[in-house]
Amino acid sequence: MEREHGQQLLSRADRIVVLTGAGISAESGVPTFRGEGGLWKSYRAEDLATPQAFAKDPRLVWEWYGWRRALVGACKPNEAHLAVARLASDRDGVSIITQNVDGLHADAAGQLSGSSAQRAMPLELHGSLFVTRCTVCDWQRADRDAIDASSIETLPHCQRCGALARPAVVWFGESLNPQVHERAFHAASEASVCLVIGTSGVVQPAASIAVATYQRGGAIIEVNPTETPLSPYAAVSIRGRASVIVTDLLNAPK
Ligand code: NAD
Ligand code: ZN
Repeated sequence: MEREHGQQLLSRADRIVVLTGAGISAESGVPTFRGEGGLWKSYRAEDLATPQAFAKDPRLVWEWYGWRRALVGACKPNEAHLAVARLASDRDGVSIITQNVDGLHADAAGQLSGSSAQRAMPLELHGSLFVTRCTVCDWQRADRDAIDASSIETLPHCQRCGALARPAVVWFGESLNPQVHERAFHAASEASVCLVIGTSGVVQPAASIAVATYQRGGAIIEVNPTETPLSPYAAVSIRGRASVIVTDLLNAPK
């Protein structure tokens, strides 16, 4: 039984990496890029989440981020985010690494108290919809404001140097922050289990984080309704929705 095998691997693991993608947030109402509701005004994410798209038409890209910020800002963490946050607060050696930019892992951590909340804070590989940064200097700020994309002047601007600001997310074709990248690979290459939840496994280098655990002899446990390029590496693949499967796996008697 895949589920029991997964529970066994998790209970014996000394270090665990939980790697999540858009699928963990689907049941919170955040559309995945490759599923239904992934299009906006018939644009694909790959057409908008790029430095080229922003250089060509910053109003269009900001309008899309304004729409996503409003949509995601109204969403709440689901049972899977909460179970993962509890795992990280209850046990030593758990790192949560996410490709998501929706802030829902941090929101789930925020529901725990004090030092538990700190332990459950995720490493956000691709940044956050709710942080804005300057396109020129290193200014950035937390930002949940609505976006007025009616003109270039009304878009967010740097409060230090006045240049145009942009969402502090990693776009297609951009590199990850080197420190974030290093911390993620370090954790994965020491983990005995990488629990991969709701990622299509096609966006690099995030997908290779799980492979780093596999290569050091650790086990991949995959939770996804469909097969992915990571499935052949997985010791355990459980097909189903994150909110059901993850709670089942993590709330098992110790
Ligand atoms: P993806 O959209 O490419 O794939 C989502 C995966 O989730 C698929 O494999 C799908 O089968 C699975 N899935 C769908 N519903 C699920 C459920 N209920 N439970 C478990 N799994 C489910 O997402 P990705 O692999 O994360 O990569 C896309 C890129 O887009 C990432 O870089 C990410 O930053 C970004 N993105 C983020 C968000 C977000 O922040 N929530 C949303 C869309 C895209
Ligand atoms: Zn600036």
